[in-house]
Amino acid sequence: MFNGIFHVPKPTNEPVRSYAPRSTERASLERELARQLSDPIDIPMIIGGQEVRTGNTEEIRCPHDRSRVLGRYHKATREHAEMAVQAANEARAEWSKMPWDARACVLLRAAELLAGPYRDVLNAATMLGQSKTCHQAEIDAACELIDFWRFNPHYVYRVYEDQPFSIPGTINYMEHRPLESFVFAVSPFNFTSIAGNLPTAPALMGNTVVWKPASTAVLSAYHMTRIWKEAGLPDGVINMICGPGSELGAPILDHVDLGGVHFTGSTQVFSTIWRAIGQDIRKYRVYPRIVGETGGKDFIFVHASADLETTVTGALRGAFEYQGQKCSAASRMYVPRSFWPAFRKRLLEELAEVRVGDISDFSNFMGAVIDEAAFRSIASYIEEAKHDSGYEVLFGGGCNAEKGFFIEPTVVRAQAPDCRLMREEIFGPVLTVYVYPDEEYEETLRLCDATGPYALTGAIFATDRAAIVKAQLALTQAAGNFYINDKPTGAVVGQQPFGGSRASGTNDKAGSPLNLLRWVSPRAIKENLAPPKDWRYPFLG
Ligand code: NAD
Repeated sequence: MFNGIFHVPKPTNEPVRSYAPRSTERASLERELARQLSDPIDIPMIIGGQEVRTGNTEEIRCPHDRSRVLGRYHKATREHAEMAVQAANEARAEWSKMPWDARACVLLRAAELLAGPYRDVLNAATMLGQSKTCHQAEIDAACELIDFWRFNPHYVYRVYEDQPFSIPGTINYMEHRPLESFVFAVSPFNFTSIAGNLPTAPALMGNTVVWKPASTAVLSAYHMTRIWKEAGLPDGVINMICGPGSELGAPILDHVDLGGVHFTGSTQVFSTIWRAIGQDIRKYRVYPRIVGETGGKDFIFVHASADLETTVTGALRGAFEYQGQKCSAASRMYVPRSFWPAFRKRLLEELAEVRVGDISDFSNFMGAVIDEAAFRSIASYIEEAKHDSGYEVLFGGGCNAEKGFFIEPTVVRAQAPDCRLMREEIFGPVLTVYVYPDEEYEETLRLCDATGPYALTGAIFATDRAAIVKAQLALTQAAGNFYINDKPTGAVVGQQPFGGSRASGTNDKAGSPLNLLRWVSPRAIKENLAPPKDWRYPFLG
């Protein structure tokens, strides 16, 4: 704090609650689920700390039960987008000058509020609004977000303490200024934690933010704005506007004061944003920082030496948790011929035990996919697999949108390693497997590396160390997060900083100092303690 060297407490990861039957945490969460279901909420935008209602509203319904209305949110127009930019610009002067430790304390306080009184609120909103099971909500909306808000303040210190050296008679230092203008944060539907991190990471570094959450995740987004308010975040530092990104994005991206974009979502939308900025770079006061984590076609590669049960567990959890709607979800798999019969048998046996349904029933392992567009898109891939002779559907394939957008966990075997289902991001519960000849291990590793445009996550399952080393080398650029004998999902803040390259993003590693560095513009300062008084250099004599 003022006149003191303040150290952020060394963070540890928030423990994951089990929600076991008859536990008090489960009873408490169930009460909150019932409360949110019986009490539809009217969600305003938050601009300059004010609740803004337009009357142009959209209903929020449970993806797993379309008859349940959770509330409605008010949609922005272009004018609201401009108001949000103005509010961010006005809040900047005070926020950017606030001592960094005071800014850090806002997030540390938000973490405590989320770990305590808001835990059930945000978990229940994520379960009902985004159709996550209690476990998926807990590791996302509670633990990962608490971790972001505790680890990032800790990393700020690491960023700020990185200082140049000084020689006798001078002092050199680096001032890590915030960017000169506002940051536009745009978040996806699938992780409440990402939605909470995208605006707060730049804000922590002294920036002010216009934030547009995904329309299918406005419920959890709104509860986060309540947490920030209670944690003492000044008005206007984060301004939330809701509505279609394609309409609201344009005036913000076009603004002369745009200082940066903090995006997570699809590759296609990120490319659109980058193109919009690049169209006329001269119009901006500064070169906007563009940070984006995008799509994936994540792989599990199996060597013949792999352990059967760990591989089955990794594949099942990696591909089907949260209905395969994780950017890191295993979506293509390479299995050696000798391993295939036993693996196929065990995977299908285990999948037969998986239950899909309403997430309020805690015995369900999977809920519904997020909306009708996602349902249709995933179903079209499954249809292709059913009708194209290059594929064989080995499990699942059922799609039913009567009550909610349910898709069975689906396993497809592909004949060709470069077919559409092995290349494209499906973002649903579909795992496509290519069975390769054992003796072509290294060729198939190269094939895995070269298939599709993405490079987000991947895993090797093997016990033979030489095989692991070969995979690690051959797949050096194929994944920004690489796992050995573990599923390719479930990165933990502080343990596995997350992000990929190629078409998967700029790889600025959310939840690490690398990401925070993107939100500062350092000023190098030299002070001469013994300035020269004669302009003549000795050599002149
Ligand atoms: P999306 O790209 O459809 O939407 C993301 C956000 O962009 C939403 O808020 C949307 O409203 C907004 N948007 C849409 N068009 C826009 C435009 N023209 N200008 C500005 N904003 C615009 O993504 P989604 O369906 O919400 O999320 C799923 C995608 O996100 C998948 O591709 C997944 O792989 C990716 N994802 C990646 C990571 C990662 O860390 N790499 C993490 C989570 C999700």
